[in-house]
Amino acid sequence: PQPLMAGKRGLVMGVANDRSIAWGIAKAAYDQGAQLAFTYQGEALEKRVRPLAQSVGSDIVVPCDVTDDASIDQVFQEVEQKWGKLDFLVHAIAYADKEELKGKYLATSRDNFVRSLDISCYSLTAISQRAVPLMKDGGSILTLTYYGAERVMPHYNVMGVAKAALEASVRYLAADLGDQGIRVNAISAGPIKTLAASGIGDFRHILKWNELNSPLRQNVSIEQVGGSGLYLLSDLSNGVTGEVHHVDSGYHVVGMMAVDAAPA
Ligand code: NAD
Repeated sequence: PQPLMAGKRGLVMGVANDRSIAWGIAKAAYDQGAQLAFTYQGEALEKRVRPLAQSVGSDIVVPCDVTDDASIDQVFQEVEQKWGKLDFLVHAIAYADKEELKGKYLATSRDNFVRSLDISCYSLTAISQRAVPLMKDGGSILTLTYYGAERVMPHYNVMGVAKAALEASVRYLAADLGDQGIRVNAISAGPIKTLAASGIGDFRHILKWNELNSPLRQNVSIEQVGGSGLYLLSDLSNGVTGEVHHVDSGYHVVGMMAVDAAPA
């Protein structure tokens, strides 16, 4: 049998290092035969992303800052020149000022609100606008979200609001693009220790809490998110769009702390 992603070409945005969720998804797609392109944000991360991209045989590795339209345009021009088409797009990008990923949501500043929503939410729409003309045979767009969009999580603050807007964007984009055979979905991942997560106040406590209280009694890995990402990017999920799929060891179904996890 053919590998699941044979003949498919995808752009992965949001790899910072080998602990990035985007890297877990990229690896899973590569292992099933996908051809990959990568973006990185700034020179410091280029040093990390370039060798990773090379290890999966990628020859498109371009800088992108999603706050800059010209920078996004360049990425998609490069993809169009080299490939002429695109089958899938991974958006694994988020940002909020560390100073406001602790304490109360009430303290959110206008500047940080605007910047967080721009980078963490609007960027999905901005890149989809450029990806759609290249998705000539249909396509799959995937973004990453978190349970803090649905329920209040300590310290997540403005990111929770940004993720709620992101999840709504997934539904609107799915409705806009369905008639072109383009699907848009999100994975709501459980907490994972990454560069971005290190900015969230008390993150170690959140990790421990999820491990103790999720039905599977474990935290998820980037390989596990990669497996579910592969499903959503591949034709296996060609009846699925506008969906927020939880890959969180089942944490989101739990209404009360497990008795065996309760402190004595
Ligand atoms: P990460 O730090 O590895 O990735 C975040 C990426 O966002 C980095 O590659 C960074 O360069 C990029 N980015 C930030 N601002 C950018 C900008 N202006 N332009 C371009 N790129 C920019 O961390 P991660 O945890 O793998 O994050 C990936 C996605 O997963 C994010 O959307 C995050 O919110 C989401 N997520 C993470 C967790 C978790 O616990 N780690 C859980 C659920 C969802």
